[in-house]
Amino acid sequence: MKHHIFRKYEISSAHYLPGHPKCGVVHGHNYLIELGFETKDGEPLYLDFAEIDLRVKKLLKNLDHRLLNDVIKYPSVENIATYIFKELYSERLPIKIVRVHEDSRSYCEVVGDYDEDISGE
Ligand SMILES: [Zn+2]
Repeated sequence: MKHHIFRKYEISSAHYLPGHPKCGVVHGHNYLIELGFETKDGEPLYLDFAEIDLRVKKLLKNLDHRLLNDVIKYPSVENIATYIFKELYSERLPIKIVRVHEDSRSYCEVVGDYDEDISGE
């Protein structure tokens, strides 16, 4: 059995998508970010949220109140979710699911395996 433990964070950021008819103009979102961490088989069901918060907030500081285009080449919701997944993965956190909500109706979900090699992607 696997357990996914979620923690939510919020950031406010600006972005634009070059060439997009509507989103090509600079605008902002209050992003809701849900991070799902997986407890691996045989490991204790324990994640230290204080430790996770420290590391996640360090990452999100690079995105909050920033123009995301300065950090991510084409900051679509998919690319933002992928960026967050890879950054947390490289921090060796047991990240499994990243959801980035642009508004109350739309979000992107990235699901990856902590043990898989994503370095080539
Ligand atoms: Zn947008």
